[in-house]
Amino acid sequence: MSAQKTIHVAGEWREAASGATREILDPADATVFAVVAEGGREDADAAVAAARAAFDAGEWPRTPVAERAALLRRVAELLQRDREKIGLLESRDAGKTLEEGRVDVDCVTDAFRYFADLVMNESGGRVVDAGSDDIHSVVVHEPVGVCGMITPWNYPLLQASWKIAPALAAGNTFVIKPSEITPLSTVALIELLAEAGLPAGVANIVTGAGDPVGARLADHPDVDLISFTGGLASGQKVMHAAVDGVKKVALELGGKNPNVVFADACETDEGFDTAVDQALNAAFIHSGQVCSAGSRLIVEESLRERFVAEVARRAEKIRLGRGTDEGVECGPLVSAQQLAKTEDHVASALAEGAVLRAGGERPKGEEYADGYFYRPTVLDQCHRTMRVIREEIFGPVLTVETFRTEDEAVALANDTEYGLAGAVWTADAGRARRVAGRLRHGTVWINDFHPYLPQAEWGGFGKSGIGRELGPSGLDEYRETKHVYQNLAPRPVRWFAG
Ligand code: NAD
Repeated sequence: MSAQKTIHVAGEWREAASGATREILDPADATVFAVVAEGGREDADAAVAAARAAFDAGEWPRTPVAERAALLRRVAELLQRDREKIGLLESRDAGKTLEEGRVDVDCVTDAFRYFADLVMNESGGRVVDAGSDDIHSVVVHEPVGVCGMITPWNYPLLQASWKIAPALAAGNTFVIKPSEITPLSTVALIELLAEAGLPAGVANIVTGAGDPVGARLADHPDVDLISFTGGLASGQKVMHAAVDGVKKVALELGGKNPNVVFADACETDEGFDTAVDQALNAAFIHSGQVCSAGSRLIVEESLRERFVAEVARRAEKIRLGRGTDEGVECGPLVSAQQLAKTEDHVASALAEGAVLRAGGERPKGEEYADGYFYRPTVLDQCHRTMRVIREEIFGPVLTVETFRTEDEAVALANDTEYGLAGAVWTADAGRARRVAGRLRHGTVWINDFHPYLPQAEWGGFGKSGIGRELGPSGLDEYRETKHVYQNLAPRPVRWFAG
């Protein structure tokens, strides 16, 4: 299989300067389905130089906002034109179902449209009353400059777009480094940006490993902002690397997200069925490889046995397989490393006293033999001191803890160094508002799990990150704020008498 030219610098597709390549595996059977350029430090430097030159030349930063918005809308149209193709790429690369791949393309389309609208509404300056008709004082927004972007493998296209759409709307140029194991949909997106008419040098991509390529973007003196989505350990390295340059840093990191279920949510059959169904959705969609996965079920003690038994029964029925096969509900994990990490966490939980209620092993059968499949797993009788409760697994593993009082439920839900997302299930509207108000998480769902809106900020408390994506704050990440104070009738101030 010949290598694709997946490095895009100053409008040209290139191989890596070193000539190195990387094989991209289909996680359903570990076969090679693409070969990409394995960029290095030299490629990162060339891409940053191109982004710097494009920014300093000023064409894109000074493009009228209506034209920038129009370009984003064209990208949205092209994404919908290529929905099937890109959805399939995402499904094969990341191991998600084809339908999930398509939904990702729709969500990405929404993000481009949202930021096109937002920047039109938010582009004017804010006039400040300086207390005199002789003073004109206005606060304006300007692009930050050259943005470095580093993204993970679970939602490659989505995470890239939550950075690229606002960065372009605000007039920045950028270099993106997608995850080395799932670069293909981001490469496809960069192709669409060029097709939509973005000037050469504004959008650059370097495929390659976290270190050196991501690390170079983080410490490069010509990168003004580094926006990172990924794991805590890599995020900490990025933050360290950005220190000397006092670069702006935006971090979207992991989560250990509580799904709190009160017994009163399950008093009717319909309520019970919905809460169980959503507990499965929370924990197992995309095989749990979701930063906001509801991997901690925190259920009221009186409901525990009935609820966990039903969750376990339905978890056993989830159909595993290749994401593109008809009827498949869950694909494989993304890599051998992710599979090994999941197996290790389950083994350690069982050694620490957890009780296995479903899964707990790789599925049997010829069709699963070569892929990175793991059965949806439910671990009962978990405790806050266990490693499986404290660390992010990023696999199809649901742990169960219980509580007796509202205070206990809140304390458990907040007992994490992360703070990305969480849910509360209750029929009591007052309790819902009380608990939601006390949860130290960036998103709280009441009687739901996982939905997000492009208009609403996404991001975390605690070690789940710094800054926000989406919503007005998601645009502000990519803008500098400048106060312009104009004196229309300048006079001496006579501060100094001489
Ligand atoms: P990861 O940290 O291993 O890698 C993320 C990216 O960082 C990759 O592109 C990788 O190559 C790069 N990288 C690795 N080391 C680096 C370094 N030293 N310098 C610069 N870049 C480096 O994470 P992952 O395994 O790809 O993704 C899973 C993680 O992402 C999970 O922790 C998940 O919670 C998190 N995530 C968070 C969100 C969110 O919105 N908060 C969304 C998706 C994923």
